[in-house]
Amino acid sequence: MVSVAAVIVAAGRGVRAGNDMPKQFRPIGGQSLLRRALVMLVEHPEVELIQPVVRSEDIELYREHSVRLDVLPPVFGGATRQASVHAGLEAIAERKLDIVLIHDAARPFASASLVSRAIAAAKKSGAAIPALPVTDTVKTVDAAGIVGTTLDRKSLRLVQTPQGFTFTALLDAHRRAAVQGREDFTDDAALAEWAGLKVSTFVGESSNIKITDEGDFARAEALVLAALGDVRTGTGIDVHAFGPGDHVTLGGIHIPHDRSLVGHSDADVALHALVDAILGALAEGDIGAHFPPNDPQWRNAPSARFLDFALQRVKARGGRIAHLDLTIVCEAPKIGPHRDALRGHIAKRASIALDRVAVKATTSEKLGFTGRGEGIAAYATATIRLPWSEA
Ligand code: MG
Repeated sequence: MVSVAAVIVAAGRGVRAGNDMPKQFRPIGGQSLLRRALVMLVEHPEVELIQPVVRSEDIELYREHSVRLDVLPPVFGGATRQASVHAGLEAIAERKLDIVLIHDAARPFASASLVSRAIAAAKKSGAAIPALPVTDTVKTVDAAGIVGTTLDRKSLRLVQTPQGFTFTALLDAHRRAAVQGREDFTDDAALAEWAGLKVSTFVGESSNIKITDEGDFARAEALVLAALGDVRTGTGIDVHAFGPGDHVTLGGIHIPHDRSLVGHSDADVALHALVDAILGALAEGDIGAHFPPNDPQWRNAPSARFLDFALQRVKARGGRIAHLDLTIVCEAPKIGPHRDALRGHIAKRASIALDRVAVKATTSEKLGFTGRGEGIAAYATATIRLPWSEA
């Protein structure tokens, strides 16, 4: 059994990305570069240990972005990328590892299959890096931008991370470089070459981009959104009858009224319709299936818990809420004065912008049960985006 660790380098300052926040902590599609890279490694079945390397100044940010992930406590990086990798390797030097992968937090889109290829290639050759052919013509220029020569692109490769190595060989190379005062290697392959290791290549991924500047962030955001191409709509309907009381709860908002809605939970007809709409878009049953009305634990339960559950299911599927639309039908109480509070409450709960939540109200012109004031009905539509998968 071969043991595999990954050192993830997140100690850069990211000044080139033009933001106060180091770029590895900036979000793409609601999740930071670092967390995306960490989650992919944590979920990889062959990677046993993950050693993050961060700047000491970033420790609080790091904690926030690694919460609930099964990784080793971070170690602090050095002045250069090379020194940071070295610190990560020393931190796990006693663990009897066979293979180590070195990965940059600035590459949040490396896939699990790329990691598998890195491990397989490192097992085979002892030092292996993902590489892509160069398709553009490459020229050298002088300081004035005047072309010197045109390079033979057939022999050129663009190199990425994760790079895979025999653990002891890479650690030894780093120790020797440190002793000799060499600290200028921009990747571990360059250091391995210097140390006399033969470095092989395996096929990289064009989507495994390195996020460097603002343009990269914009491109990455578009990539994440484009991946959420499975746009789904769900509907939900709920009705609750009036009974004795002095208020109704609609969309989590307490609205004074001369009667209350009757129900096992807080009878929030608006949130119940929304929950069913979201579950409908997910095709994951309905509110009654997840929260049976005869189960005593949901007696008087705040319906926000049901909404949180549905939102959590969207998140667990890697999706996002695009839009929530709610219509409340009753003669009284008047919904208009509470509309913005309702919208705000729902938007906040769902962590989405206010303009993604619509709340509308109508009477039924004194017709039917709502017209006779016997209860309140709510109709909801949820539009969500999920990662497209053929399976
Ligand atoms: Mg209900």
